[in-house]
Amino acid sequence: MRDVRVRFAPSPTGALHLGGLRTALFNWLFARRHGGTFIVRIEDTDRARSTDEALDAIVEGLRWAGLEWDEGPYRQTERLELYRRKAGELLDQGRAYWCVCAPDELEARRKAALAKGESVKYDGRCRTRGLTAPAEPAALRFRAPHTGRTVVEDLIKGTIEFDNAVLDDLILLRSNGDPTYHLSVVIDDALMGITHVIRGDDHVNNTPRQLPLFDALGYPAPRFAHLPMILGADKTRLSKRHGAASVLAYRDMGYMPDALVNYLVRLGWSHGDQEMFSIPDMIEKFSLDRVQAAAAVFDPDKLQWLNAEYLKRGDPAHLAARLRPFVEQRGYDRHGPVQPQGGLEAVIPHLRARAKTLVEMADWAMPYLTEPVAMDDAAAATLLTPAMASSLKKFADRVKTADPFSQETIAPVLRALLEEDGLTMGAFAQPLRLALTGKTFSPGIYDVMALLGRERTLGRIAHALRRPVTPG
Ligand code: GLU
Repeated sequence: MRDVRVRFAPSPTGALHLGGLRTALFNWLFARRHGGTFIVRIEDTDRARSTDEALDAIVEGLRWAGLEWDEGPYRQTERLELYRRKAGELLDQGRAYWCVCAPDELEARRKAALAKGESVKYDGRCRTRGLTAPAEPAALRFRAPHTGRTVVEDLIKGTIEFDNAVLDDLILLRSNGDPTYHLSVVIDDALMGITHVIRGDDHVNNTPRQLPLFDALGYPAPRFAHLPMILGADKTRLSKRHGAASVLAYRDMGYMPDALVNYLVRLGWSHGDQEMFSIPDMIEKFSLDRVQAAAAVFDPDKLQWLNAEYLKRGDPAHLAARLRPFVEQRGYDRHGPVQPQGGLEAVIPHLRARAKTLVEMADWAMPYLTEPVAMDDAAAATLLTPAMASSLKKFADRVKTADPFSQETIAPVLRALLEEDGLTMGAFAQPLRLALTGKTFSPGIYDVMALLGRERTLGRIAHALRRPVTPG
C-alpha cells in the first residue's frame, strides 16, 4: 500500500455533527493505524452557505475530540485559481463545454421531464453546440461518458456498478466562475495524494460521477469507502429531532471526549463484543473491513452509559481538568480561598459513582468549592428543628478537637452523641448533610467532612445554626 493519506473534508455550512465527527474519526484511525497522514480540508467553495463561525466550530470540535491533523486545514477558497485552470484544461481537451442554458430554463425543463417520467439529468442541449467563449453568462460542464459502465470497488459496500447513461454532465464552473464541489473535490483528492476517500454514504452516488473526472484530468483514482449512515431510533437519518446533534453540544452537556469517541467508533464498526476502547486500542484494532455496510442506529442511552463509565474509571487528574470549566462557570475560583482538601481532583472519587455527566458532577461538586454554601431553604425549614440544632451544636463543639480530623476520630464522637440524644444515624445525618452541603444528597457524610476539612465543617454548622430555627 502506498503511504496512506486520508482527509476529512467538511463544508463549513453548520455545526460539526456526530456523523461528521465519526467520518473524521474513521479517517483519523485509518491514518494512525497505517502510520499515514490525516488531512483536514475545508470545502468552502459554496460561499453563500459557508461561514467562518462554522469553520471555527468544526475545528474546535475536532480539537476537543482529540483528532489532531497532520496537514491543513486547507481551504478550497484559497485554491480557486487552481480549479479554474484545471477546468480550462478540460475545456481545451474537449472534455468540458460551455453551457448557456439559464437556470430558470433548466428548472422548467427538469420539471417537464419529471412530469413525463423522464430522466431529470441535464438534457445535453449545449453538449454539441461547440460554444467558444460565449458572451452571455455560461457554466462549464463536464462531458461525462454516456455509454459503458462505471464500477466502484467500495471497501465497505463491495462492488457497485453504475450505468454511465445515468451520469449527468456535471457543472464544473458556475456561470460566475466559481468551481463546484465535484471539480474541486476531485482536483484536491488527486493533488493532495489522497489514497483512500472515506466518507459518508450520502456521497456514494457522487463517486461514479467523480471517477470519470479523475480520468479526464489524468489522475489515478483513490480507493473509496462509504460509511453507513447514522439513524435515529425511528430509523430516519440522525438530526436535531433526535436530540443534540452537534459535537460541541455534547461537550457542553458534560460528555467526555474519550467517551464520545468510544461511542462513535462502535457506530458501524465492531471488534467482537468489545464496547470500551482506549484510543491506542482503537488505533491498533481499527480496520475498514470490520465496518458494516448497514446503517447504524444512534442510542443516546448507551452514549450516556459509556460516559458514566468513563467518569467512574478515569484518572482523577484527567477528569478534574475536564471538570474545571464546568465548576468555574458555576463560580469556582481555582486561586480563591475556598479549596477542597486535596484540590479539585480530590472531589472526583466522591462524586463519580453516580454522575452521568460532568454537568452533574459539577453541580454536586459546588458545595466543596464555594462559600457560603447555597442552602436548600425548603429542606432547612423541615430539617433544622430546635432539637436538631441543639444536637448539631453539640456535635460541632465535640469534633472541634478531633485529631486528625477524619472518620476514625469523628465516628466515636458521633456515635456517643446519637446515643445521648436518642437519635438514629439516619435521623441526624440529613440535617448534618444539609448544614454541610446545603443539599439533602451528597457523598457519605464522613467523606463530606474530609473534603471540607475541620475549619469549613465547623464554619458551615455555625452558619446553618445562625438561620432562624424552625419550631419542630
Ligand atoms: N464537503 C463534503 C461534505 O461536507 C464532503 C465531500 C467528500 O467527503 O468528498 O459533505
